[in-house]
Amino acid sequence: MQINSERLADIFVTLCEIDSPSRKEGRVCAYLKEFFATRTPGATLFEDNSNSVTGSDCGNLIVRFEGELDKEPVFLNAHMDTVAPGEGVKVQREGDIFKSHGETVLGGDDKSGIAILCETILSLQEKRTPYRPVEFIFTTCEEIGLLGAKNLESSLVQSSMGVALDSVGTDEIIIGAPAASRIFVEIQGVSAHAGLHPEDGVNAIQVASQCLIKLPLGRIDVESTANIGLIAGGTATNIIPDHVSLKGEIRSHCEKKLRRLTKNFHDIFQGVIDQCNAGFASRNLSADFLFQEENEYPAMKLTPQDQIVQLLLQASEAESRKLDLIVAGGGSDANIFNRYHGLTTVIVGTGMEKVHTTDERIRLADMVRQSNLVYSLLSF
Ligand SMILES: [Zn+2]
Repeated sequence: MQINSERLADIFVTLCEIDSPSRKEGRVCAYLKEFFATRTPGATLFEDNSNSVTGSDCGNLIVRFEGELDKEPVFLNAHMDTVAPGEGVKVQREGDIFKSHGETVLGGDDKSGIAILCETILSLQEKRTPYRPVEFIFTTCEEIGLLGAKNLESSLVQSSMGVALDSVGTDEIIIGAPAASRIFVEIQGVSAHAGLHPEDGVNAIQVASQCLIKLPLGRIDVESTANIGLIAGGTATNIIPDHVSLKGEIRSHCEKKLRRLTKNFHDIFQGVIDQCNAGFASRNLSADFLFQEENEYPAMKLTPQDQIVQLLLQASEAESRKLDLIVAGGGSDANIFNRYHGLTTVIVGTGMEKVHTTDERIRLADMVRQSNLVYSLLSF
């Protein structure tokens, strides 16, 4: 056993109990600076200036070790922020399983990734195992639109391939992830007193409903999904509502298809509004809509031949494990690293489960397993 599992557990619990909601990662960043500066000889630390754009109370933290092996450098990535409710985390340990006390998330997404990296480098150094040059990239604001990764000062990063530790499971290497667009739609009707002058109104909620019925939602095809997740409108039961806002998203592993689906969404709103307005014309009334889309993140697609995939497969074989190559449905820092920073990145799980819920949990054995994988990646 290369990894000190109880020390890993301690680091993990400590990290989880330092609150770090998005934009307030500063205390975790300070803990990590202190950790690497005092416990891991040879660490060089850089904090970038991404906070001037992200609004976080710290930048992304990059920790570099030169290593003794004359091999290509790799980076490992985990994000420092957690989702809400994530303040006042108290970790409960039941045997091998860590959970929150039920009122917050655990924050194992992604403190498990951070703890794995802390413990792995401690173990490598303690056992005097030679390792390749490695950089850890700890990002901010992953959970609010990958803002830390988007604003990473990648000139500070010397390696060009690496692994993001930020997913469920332990037996897969994620080599593909979809692109996503956010959709914002405002539907404008005409307000009127619902009891006295209903003929003077155009009910925006009703128009929105007709649009919603026609929108393809859920799983569109094997590589695409769509959702409307928020709807708001209306002011009182006796007022015909003149305004409704809808927010949603579309994802696809194929960016061309994502653009086509987004246009299709727009055309459905346009078609329904046109049809409604034909009916309202006799009353000299009309509805209108405003459709906005925002590219949230681009797709990522690696091949089994990519060097980092091969390295990970070899590292897992050295551990007598067999990892599957898969494509997944989420967007993460890896999408941004691959597309915008020239950092070839795959994603590997940490064993985290039920993430983004107060039921979130993780097994120590799974974190140990993934620490051993990283240990092997850096030292074989
Ligand atoms: Zn995450």
